[in-house]
Amino acid sequence: MNHLEKTSAIVRNIVLPSARKADKTAIFPRTSITALGEAGILGLMSSKEVGGMGLDLKEAAEVIELIATACPSTAMIVTMHFSAVAIIEKFGAVDLRKQIAAGKHLSTLAWSEQGSRSHFWVPIGTAQRNQAGYLLSGKKTMVTSAGEADSYIWSSRPAEKEGASTLWLVEKNNPALNTIKGYDGLGLRANASSPMVTENMQVPAQAMLGDDGGGFDIMIGVVLPVFSVLSASCSIGITYSTLSSAIAHASASSLEHVNATLAGSLPTLRAYLSRAQIKADMAKALYHDTISAIQNNRPDAMLRVMEVKAAASETALEVTDIAMRVCGGAAFRKDVDIERFFRDARASHIMAPTSDVLYDFIGKAICNIPVF
Ligand SMILES: Cc1cc2nc3c(=O)[nH]c(=O)nc-3n(C[C@H](O)[C@H](O)[C@H](O)COP(=O)(O)OP(=O)(O)OC[C@H]3O[C@@H](n4cnc5c(N)ncnc54)[C@H](O)[C@@H]3O)c2cc1C
Repeated sequence: MNHLEKTSAIVRNIVLPSARKADKTAIFPRTSITALGEAGILGLMSSKEVGGMGLDLKEAAEVIELIATACPSTAMIVTMHFSAVAIIEKFGAVDLRKQIAAGKHLSTLAWSEQGSRSHFWVPIGTAQRNQAGYLLSGKKTMVTSAGEADSYIWSSRPAEKEGASTLWLVEKNNPALNTIKGYDGLGLRANASSPMVTENMQVPAQAMLGDDGGGFDIMIGVVLPVFSVLSASCSIGITYSTLSSAIAHASASSLEHVNATLAGSLPTLRAYLSRAQIKADMAKALYHDTISAIQNNRPDAMLRVMEVKAAASETALEVTDIAMRVCGGAAFRKDVDIERFFRDARASHIMAPTSDVLYDFIGKAICNIPVF
């Protein structure tokens, strides 16, 4: 079976049947993550030399999109994992890379802070050299898979060198790492997003990923293309899943007094669905073009990377809003699944870089003003 057949089976048998309950209880979808690990999907981006699938961003995007059609919380957990893996594959120890390739290790990014909020590229938390390595202190506002992941790519100010940031690998079992539990959010309720804080957390010198002060280049050069595209995959999965539910509802529900379905008798609803379909297809075309721009090293690749997350997020907001309108009172029912996707869609535009930050970045880029 290839990566899509494997994912498809897990989505059909495990992710989809448990998605509604995961949303209701806000419990981390451990069974789904374990199944994805055992099938090798968590090692999809790990190179073959450490036992991974050795696949690329295109295949990762296909997997995330498929999972998001059923459970956006699970899709976001895997998105953050692949974003972390992009760094670990370049700078991590071989043993850790093998664990990830074998599907036995889940990772994530712990970047956004209380101090610099969504401006993740300028952490306020500190790193201090000592005899045993480094002491890290910081307050992270929201970390996907907090307390559930096996490791966290932690950001801080540089310890000794110039630069905006330094990245670290922090193990789950570090006694000074505290997860503040109790996330009861609007959407992505099951992805265990929580604040994480630490004071003088001892990490060994080898925990540093890349150079001291080199975090910014890794964040923008290595992670941003992966996170941006995969966040768009989540939004695209949400968009098409909701659109197809809305079309199914409008095509199956009838107005008995005129002997016709909602779609058959109400041109306004057809026009709303048509607008949603056009928006979805436009976002999907940009999404495919972005992956192609990255794969072919096109000069506009970075512009596309910034555009695609904002475009797909905003499309998901718009299409889920239209679906709520088209499906009327039925859309409020949990069993119709439209309101869950409506809530889940709302996370992506405020996940950093937020849509508004991206609009500012893109505006600067096209006006030839330095972005940072
Ligand atoms: C479900 C969920 C999961 C998350 N998971 C992770 C994770 O795994 N790792 C992680 O590091 N973080 C994570 N985050 C945090 C996320 O990436 C953002 O940092 C956070 O949502 C931003 O919230 P804030 O209140 O700090 O926003 P603020 O920074 O206070 O922004 C408030 C508003 O101002 C706007 N704004 C800010 N700066 C500008 C600007 N320059 N120009 C125009 N508008 C601007 C923003 O777009 C936003 O609308 C997660 C968040 C959520 C909701």
